[in-house]
Amino acid sequence: MSKLEKHAPIFLNNTESKLYPCLKEDMEVEFAIIGGGLGGITLAYLLKHMGKRVAVFEANQIGMGTSLRTTAKLTIQHGLIYDKLMHTKSPGKAKQYADANRKAIEFVKETISKEQIECDFMNMPSYIYTADEKYIKAIQDEAEACKRLGIEVNYKDQIPLPIKVKAALEWEGAALFNPKKYISSLAEKFTADGGCIFEETPITRLVPGEVSVLETDKGCKVSARRIVIASHYPMYDGLGLYFTRLNMQRIYVLGLKVDKEKLPKGSFISVDSPIRSIRPIYEQDIVLIGGGHHRVGDDQYEATHFEELKQFGKEVFNSDEVYSQWSLQDYVTPDSVPYIGYLNSSKYHNIYVATGFNKWGMSNATNAALVLKDLLLMGTSPFEDLFNPQRVSAYKGKTFINHNIEGIKNYMQGKLRTVPKDTLPDKGEAIVAELEDGNVYGIYQDEEEHYHIVDIICPHVGARLRWNSAEKSWDCPFHGSRFNIDGEVLEGPSTHKLNGYKEGKNKIHPNLI
Ligand SMILES: Cc1cc2nc3c(=O)[nH]c(=O)nc-3n(C[C@H](O)[C@H](O)[C@H](O)COP(=O)(O)OP(=O)(O)OC[C@H]3O[C@@H](n4cnc5c(N)ncnc54)[C@H](O)[C@@H]3O)c2cc1C
Repeated sequence: MSKLEKHAPIFLNNTESKLYPCLKEDMEVEFAIIGGGLGGITLAYLLKHMGKRVAVFEANQIGMGTSLRTTAKLTIQHGLIYDKLMHTKSPGKAKQYADANRKAIEFVKETISKEQIECDFMNMPSYIYTADEKYIKAIQDEAEACKRLGIEVNYKDQIPLPIKVKAALEWEGAALFNPKKYISSLAEKFTADGGCIFEETPITRLVPGEVSVLETDKGCKVSARRIVIASHYPMYDGLGLYFTRLNMQRIYVLGLKVDKEKLPKGSFISVDSPIRSIRPIYEQDIVLIGGGHHRVGDDQYEATHFEELKQFGKEVFNSDEVYSQWSLQDYVTPDSVPYIGYLNSSKYHNIYVATGFNKWGMSNATNAALVLKDLLLMGTSPFEDLFNPQRVSAYKGKTFINHNIEGIKNYMQGKLRTVPKDTLPDKGEAIVAELEDGNVYGIYQDEEEHYHIVDIICPHVGARLRWNSAEKSWDCPFHGSRFNIDGEVLEGPSTHKLNGYKEGKNKIHPNLI
C-alpha cells in the first residue's frame, strides 16, 4: 500500500476510478442531475432502473466530493436526534426520520448484495457515548425517546473502545463501507444500463422553465424536463433562500495507523465537547478520528485541530503514525432535518433539491434519492412533509438566527479588516494586501518562492475570503465556497474561479433567480 499524500482521503486508496467524458455539445434529457456524489449517483441509478432517460453532470469527478472525504458510517444514530425531534417536532415526525434513514441503510445493504458490489462493507454496531458525567442525562433522555419510538438501542456503560464511558447507546443495525467504491460501482451499473455521466462539466447557470436549460462552463446547453440539484450546496437558489438557512460546518479527519488488535469493533460518536467521531478501516489497519467542528472560514487556528486529534489518537490507540489527514464541510439545517423535495414549490414544480444532511449524508443522501425517486415518478412520497425544504421550521429558531448573525458578522469583518501595505508573505504563508491598482488581493508564497495572487472577493455573493492555513485555501465565511491558491474552485456553491492579478475584479454570480 503506497502512502497517500498528506491531505488525501483514505477511501481513495486501492480504488480505481473510471473516467467519464466532458459534455462537448448541446443535449436533451428527461431527468438532469447536477452533482455526482452519493445523492446524485444513487438517484441516477434508481431512475435508470425505472427506464428513464437520465444524465448526471459533475463539476469534477464523481464520488470525489464530500462523499469521499466522509467517515462513512451508516447509522440511524445521528447524535442525540430523536429526543430533539420528539420535542421540537412530534413523536410521529421523529419516528419518520428514523424510518426513512433505516430504509436508506437497508437499501444500501440490499443493493450491495444484489449488485455484488465490492466496497469493504461490514455490519458493525454504532455507539453514541459520553465520558462526561454532565451528559449522562442527555444519553438517558435519548434512550427514553428511542424506546418510545420503537428504535431498538441498548443502553451500555462500556463500549468496545479503551475509553472510560459514563453512558452509551448501541444500535446493532449499523454498518461501514467505502463510499468511493460504492458510488463508482453504482455509476458503472447506471451507465451500463444506458445512463450518461459527464465529468469536468460544471453547471454554471440554470434557466428555469417548463423545459429548463442548464449551461456548462464551456457554453454547452442541456434541456431537461426535470432537474435535481444534488450539488451538496445548491448551485442555484431559485429564491428558496438556502443561503440564509444552511450553516456550513468544517470538520477535520485523521487516518491513524494502529495495531490490528486495536481496531475497534464498532463506529462511535461522542456527545461531549469536543465531539469525537471514530471508525475503523479493517482493510488498511487504520482508525479514522474526526472532530474540531467550526463554521467554514470562522476559525483562525485550523492547524491546531489536527494536533488535538493526534493527541486523542495517541491517548486512545497508543499510535502517532498519521497515515493521512484532511478536512471537509457539510451543511447543517436549523431543525436538523435535511431539505429534500421541490427547490421552491411556489415557483417551480420541476426543480428538486437534496441538501443539508447535517453530517449524516451517508444515510440521508441515500434517503434523499429514495424520496426524490418517489416524488419524481409518482408525485408523492410518505416522507415529503418531513423533508419539505419550504417547511416553516427551516426558517425559525435560534440556530437560524445565529447562523445569519454570524454570516453577516463574518461578511462585515472580511470587508473591514485592516490591509497591510508593502509587505509580502513568508514561504508557505499568505497575507491580504492592497496592490498598486488599488484592489485588495490574497497573496500566497509557495516553497519555490512563487507568489500566487488572487482577488479574494467570493464570486458567489461578494464576501471577502479568509485564508485557511491548514489546507492552504481561500475559504468563504458566508456560504462555504473554497478556492485553491490559484483561485480554482475546490468546493461550491461558487461555480466561478477567482481572477488573478491584472485579470480584473471577480464578477459576482449568485445564481439566485
Ligand atoms: C467530517 C464529516 C464526516 C462525516 N461522516 C459521516 C458519516 O460517518 N456518516 C454519514 O452518514 N455522513 C457523514 N458525513 C456527511 C456526508 O459525508 C455528506 O453529507 C454526504 O457525503 C453529502 O453527499 P452529497 O452527494 O450531497 O455531496 P457530494 O458528495 O459533495 O457530491 C456533490 C457533487 O456535486 C458536484 N457539484 C457541485 N457543484 C456543481 C455544479 N455547479 N455542477 C456540477 N456538479 C457540481 C461536486 O463536485 C460533488 O461531486 C460526514 C460529513 C463530514 C463533514
